[in-house]
Amino acid sequence: MTIMIERLAIIGVGLIGGSLARALREAGAVKSVVGIGRSRANLEDALSLGICDEITQDSLEGVRGADLVFISVPVCSIPAVVAEIAPALAPGCIVTDGGSVKTAIVRECEALMPSGCHFVGGHPIAGTEHSGAAASFATLYNGKRCILTPTERTDKAALDLIARLWRLTGADVCIMEPGHHDRIFAEISHLPHAVAYALVHAVGTADVEGENVLSYTAGGFRDFTRIASSDPVMWRDIALMNREALLKSIDGFSSSLAELRQRIDRGDSDGLNEFFTTAKQFRDGIV
Ligand code: NAP
Repeated sequence: MTIMIERLAIIGVGLIGGSLARALREAGAVKSVVGIGRSRANLEDALSLGICDEITQDSLEGVRGADLVFISVPVCSIPAVVAEIAPALAPGCIVTDGGSVKTAIVRECEALMPSGCHFVGGHPIAGTEHSGAAASFATLYNGKRCILTPTERTDKAALDLIARLWRLTGADVCIMEPGHHDRIFAEISHLPHAVAYALVHAVGTADVEGENVLSYTAGGFRDFTRIASSDPVMWRDIALMNREALLKSIDGFSSSLAELRQRIDRGDSDGLNEFFTTAKQFRDGIV
């Protein structure tokens, strides 16, 4: 494999950034990787795990001379990170991200790019509920989708390079308009996380004769709520940044729950059967 990137800077060497670095190293596509972050302990992990060749807490120093910068910090911090590194970017540098919300990030980051540098918005559809460099692994993206969200301002060559890199990780690249991305992921990712957090919240504070009801939970509850163990800061940021689309999704879900509640309240056996059968058909149809 020929080297495609001489110096890759990863800002936020956690699950997403660490896994991308590992996958591109395994593919032989990058010559050197510099890991940039806030806490020394996580960066030391990244170094000792062989994810990075160098580590630094100084982002300006880290991005100097990089031909590609990948930003994988919580979404509300992404524009601030880009604003900070912009003066140190080398001409021709491509900046891309893995953030789970796209409209605001793409708009703000495109506007922050110095002339001759290019921003490409991205979102790999892969993850776990675990965080940090130690949680990353090279095969995370294999067989998963990665959405890229170009606009009319996106440099075509930069987009092509980012798409080729994601394909090297085993990901299937999809191109989508940022707003369309945010509406889809509000429904299929941000809403389920909000519901899981709300459900655990409700059950965790439920008062059933003073019992700790969570101690009785079994497979179903645990399967359904696994994602409520995800990083709260990451999900706080996603909820804030995709506020409008998420509120619409929550309203849709509230109507659905209200409908279910009504059918239970009425003792509507046929109505319940129909409700559960329709949902089962949707669920069984997911490939
Ligand atoms: P993570 O494992 O917690 O990694 C984030 C890393 O960023 C941490 O190592 C953290 O280390 C560092 N960091 C946090 N704030 C920072 C800042 N302001 N400046 C520099 N470094 C900072 O999180 P992740 O799961 O990789 O998620 C990263 C991004 O990927 C998020 O934007 C998320 O929306 C997106 N994403 C996540 C998933 C998922 O399922 N996890 C899937 C797709 C996309 P320090 O605290 O030491 O700085």
